[in-house]
Amino acid sequence: MPEYKAPLRDIRFVRDELLNFPEHYKSLPACQDATPDVVQSILDEGAKFAEEVLAPLNRVGDEEGCTWSEGGVVKTPTGFKEAYKQYVEGGWAGLASPTEYGGQGLPESLALSLGEMIGQANWSWGMYPGLSNGAKRTIFAHGSDEQKKIYLTNLTTGNWTGTMCLTEPHCGTDLGLLRTKAEPQSDGSYKISGTKIFISSGEHDMADNIVHIVLARLPDAPAGTKGISLFIVPKFLPSADGGVGKRNALACGSVENKMGIHGNSTCVLNFDGATGFLIGPANRGLHCMFTFMNSARIGTAMQGLASSEVAFQGATRYARERLQMRSLSGAKAPDKPADPIIVHPDVRRMLLTMKAVSEGARMLMYFCAQQVDIALHSPDEASRMQAESLLALLTPIAKGFLTELGVECANLGMQVFGGHGYIAEWGMEQNLRDARISTLYEGTTGIQAIDLLGRKVLGSQGQALMSFTKIVHKFCKSNETNAAVKEFIEPLGQLSKEWGEMTMKVGMAAIKNPDEAGAAATDYLMYSGYVTLAYFWATAAQVAADRLAAGSTEQGFYKAKLQTARFYYQRILPRTRAHAAALQSGAANLLEMNEADFLIGA
Ligand SMILES: Cc1cc2nc3c(=O)[nH]c(=O)nc-3n(C[C@H](O)[C@H](O)[C@H](O)COP(=O)(O)OP(=O)(O)OC[C@H]3O[C@@H](n4cnc5c(N)ncnc54)[C@H](O)[C@@H]3O)c2cc1C
Repeated sequence: MPEYKAPLRDIRFVRDELLNFPEHYKSLPACQDATPDVVQSILDEGAKFAEEVLAPLNRVGDEEGCTWSEGGVVKTPTGFKEAYKQYVEGGWAGLASPTEYGGQGLPESLALSLGEMIGQANWSWGMYPGLSNGAKRTIFAHGSDEQKKIYLTNLTTGNWTGTMCLTEPHCGTDLGLLRTKAEPQSDGSYKISGTKIFISSGEHDMADNIVHIVLARLPDAPAGTKGISLFIVPKFLPSADGGVGKRNALACGSVENKMGIHGNSTCVLNFDGATGFLIGPANRGLHCMFTFMNSARIGTAMQGLASSEVAFQGATRYARERLQMRSLSGAKAPDKPADPIIVHPDVRRMLLTMKAVSEGARMLMYFCAQQVDIALHSPDEASRMQAESLLALLTPIAKGFLTELGVECANLGMQVFGGHGYIAEWGMEQNLRDARISTLYEGTTGIQAIDLLGRKVLGSQGQALMSFTKIVHKFCKSNETNAAVKEFIEPLGQLSKEWGEMTMKVGMAAIKNPDEAGAAATDYLMYSGYVTLAYFWATAAQVAADRLAAGSTEQGFYKAKLQTARFYYQRILPRTRAHAAALQSGAANLLEMNEADFLIGA
């Protein structure tokens, strides 16, 4: 099993040197408690918890999985419950929750760093508190004062956990088909009836209560997505004093037997006239649920980073030790029977891909987290709107693109181990199995792509895209004469220009035929992702070049940054050529074939 080490040096690089989080926190009155000392101790303690408590449970979770028994009782793998108790006792659950509900009121971006380490150590375990965070945000944004008092307080301590209940057997991507019913009762509550499937953390033994956030339809609701409302449906109804009261009429029908993330319970939940409470206005449920979905999308994007980092750590350790063949240019370890495989260019290609992706993903994720802080806390309306616009653009890119690359890296991680990677002992096959869900749940890659191109970019007449390309342009302009990063600035400037031009072209074609947007979308998403990471790699290169010029004592670290940026530009970024060609090739090559001619068998 690979050892997990929290990547604290790189987290500090991104937070302190690249994105200047200390100044960022100082600039937001609500974030001023996040002083450098506080941040440092949270990162150090979080790393310890992830490395020492969660990482050792990762394999156990995979092997044991969650077990369902009669009456809908679900047992989590050995050690999960005890680790959760430590998490609650350590006060981690309320790190970024508002102080009026018992939280520590620290910035969301700090919770994201904790989430990064937890997710890398044990993704399945991390999903239990991860979903609670989405539930908290949803109740905070749309709940009544009373709902906040009861549910937010209990979710903030971590004594209760949360879930997100959208999916039904016949309704996944298309929530307009949703059938779960909500019948109004004379006391203002609702009776919720229906079946939800694939509900992550839907039932378990780790917390006193589970707060399900459920989409359902009122009796007179219009058809489609405009007739969906949102409800809180707790497993146990709250008692008069806000504690755990009577059992509600819902039960876990089964736990799915699935490819990966075995330690997380994926549940069928049957609501049988369960008592629920409306959150937000009737028939505006999908709008309210977007608070949850956006938070979950950023959370899932983090899984792309997690899969890449875990693959990189495991494969790098192995490549330094595994001896096979001699280097093509002559023995590098003549005292040994063969050279370590890290000398071979092809192994380097794989390791550097994982390094470039995980470090690049970290930069994008922390930039997004900074925008979340600004959108939530900036006193300046224009700054809040700018942050919202950037998040609108970058959320589907982070979710769709980073998870696709996360799966690629998990696959490469296994490849570096050769046949040993296919054997469970090394943890690489678990990483690949765990990673695979990330491109599916929270909206598949195809759906993220349509959201990006259709809703976010074309839907804003290109404004959302421009909110980011303006930043790229400004960076290129200010480094126009910086010889140390010339090799990055020129191609970045050209790509950013091409991004805008291609968007115009696809947008024009889509006006005549909407299928043109659908046909271009996934290549557009991937192209956008590669250009976005190119920007972050250029900024990292610039910081590294400055540090080297200033004579930093960490020459190796900063040289590696520059070298990884160069690798990214020369070996990964050329993928934009294929995506640009494909996305501009039009819809006909996808749609001209008759359905019947997709021949199956003879
Ligand atoms: C392990 C696991 C955990 C999950 N956790 C949760 C959870 O906690 N809560 C929850 O509510 N749900 C959860 N889900 C459900 C998950 O979000 C859905 O499976 C996912 O959104 C896709 O829906 P679907 O499976 O019904 O696929 P479908 O919607 O049937 O899609 C099938 C294929 O068609 C494509 N497609 C569909 N519509 C379009 C379109 N308009 N244009 C282009 N392509 C399209 C999709 O991209 C996909 O490739 C989970 C699923 C799994 C497997």
